[in-house]
Amino acid sequence: MSFEALGLHVNIIRALTDSGYTKPTPVQEQAIPAAIEGRDLMVSSQTGSGKTAAFMLPALHKLATAEVVTYTNGKTPNQERQAARSRGDRPRFVAAKPKMLVLTPTRELALQVTTATDKYSSYTRRLKAVSILGGMPYPKQMQLLSRNPEILVATPGRLIDHMESGKIDFSELQMLVLDEADRMLDMGFIDDIEKIVAATPPTRQTMLFSATLDGVVGNMAKRITTEPLVIQIAGSASKHENIQQKVHFVDDLSHKNRMLDHLLRDVSVDQAVVFTATKRDADSIADRLNIAGFAAAALHGDMHQGARNRTLDALRRGQVRVLVATDVAARGIDVPGITHVFNYDLPKFPEDYVHRIGRTGRAGRKGIAVSLVNHAEGMHVKRIERFTKQLIPVDVIEGFEPKKSAAPARSAARKPSGWKPGDTRKSGNNFGNSRPGGQRSFSKPAAPRKEGSGGGNGGGYRGNRSSEGGARRSFGE
Ligand code: AMP
Repeated sequence: MSFEALGLHVNIIRALTDSGYTKPTPVQEQAIPAAIEGRDLMVSSQTGSGKTAAFMLPALHKLATAEVVTYTNGKTPNQERQAARSRGDRPRFVAAKPKMLVLTPTRELALQVTTATDKYSSYTRRLKAVSILGGMPYPKQMQLLSRNPEILVATPGRLIDHMESGKIDFSELQMLVLDEADRMLDMGFIDDIEKIVAATPPTRQTMLFSATLDGVVGNMAKRITTEPLVIQIAGSASKHENIQQKVHFVDDLSHKNRMLDHLLRDVSVDQAVVFTATKRDADSIADRLNIAGFAAAALHGDMHQGARNRTLDALRRGQVRVLVATDVAARGIDVPGITHVFNYDLPKFPEDYVHRIGRTGRAGRKGIAVSLVNHAEGMHVKRIERFTKQLIPVDVIEGFEPKKSAAPARSAARKPSGWKPGDTRKSGNNFGNSRPGGQRSFSKPAAPRKEGSGGGNGGGYRGNRSSEGGARRSFGE
């Protein structure tokens, strides 16, 4: 199947050729023709599956080809402004009337969707996409809105502010996309989403993308769509089969830090993301790694949007080699050079593990995801394994063996076919020096060890320090 066969506008196909896309991904193959027809969609697909293009390409096609760019009162907001000026009316802000709205859970994802849109619409004249995000100065956003963009990409909190102050009018809206809807609900945006949906015309086309369509998110999807086409993509992307996962057990914080330094020095690490449970650890580990000679930078929700953007740009340009981040970076970062993800602390929720490791192995590449785990955290590894239905092999590096002895077998997740007890599936170990026969030690977790009080670790589970879990909603505002 080719992009031409999906019926896309020739100028969009030119942009895809420039981007190096040769054929549609499975989610694109199913979603694009139905979306061009105007059908509502309920899509379960993971980040990395090409979902952004699955909703943005048909939307651009429709905006580029159809009469949809006309306005029901015959005037664009810019024409309204000009008419007001020529009548000698006092200049006033005429609300932006977007044709398409994309809601995303985080600022990072919103910016990424906007960048992708700019790329896909580079040959499509007069289609503007802007991001409306928390953390961005209001005057700047007013300036963006005054250009009357056809496409708005927004996080829910800030969008509601602009709606309530009359800066945005959804009466012309034709397409509504909820990207990573499950995540938006996790972050407590349900009321905001309901409010936004209620402000859009019932005739709109609605496309909802989510990692899962079960439970609350599925119910919401059914409520806001009309006779949707349901697309379920369960491919290698969602199982992350291109990402080699492993666990290294550590005795204490100093063991963990030494191991991280060692792993980061491996020549196969091009760029890496190190995930921590707290903002404070993200800062302190980034500082420590810089002193140790790594080009490291922190990224977390306490940083201003400008600083976050600069850090991400530096990562994209390769100036930052190690990004030390909280879960604010678990979704939305799409940098092909990221070869490794390290969980310095395990995430609070198994879903976040899946999103974190998805920062590597982008666009068909291979990746490596390593979790540094205290013996007391075995239960959390099991929860992740149950969620992903995959066992994560335990690996041991010579010279970095944990002092605790390990018990080999346990019954955690459903065992993937071909799995044998004690099987460490160490294919292609990239860190050298690893010893065969890595052991599973978390079937018999040892008593929790008291860690050094300074940097701390594993705090994500004990809840003894402020983690970003409690501040989730603030990312999208
Ligand atoms: P997404 O799931 O939208 O985050 O996309 C994941 C990555 O796949 C991004 O880097 C896209 O640029 C890339 N991508 C999306 N569609 C295609 C395609 N048809 N061919 C090659 N790469 C693609």
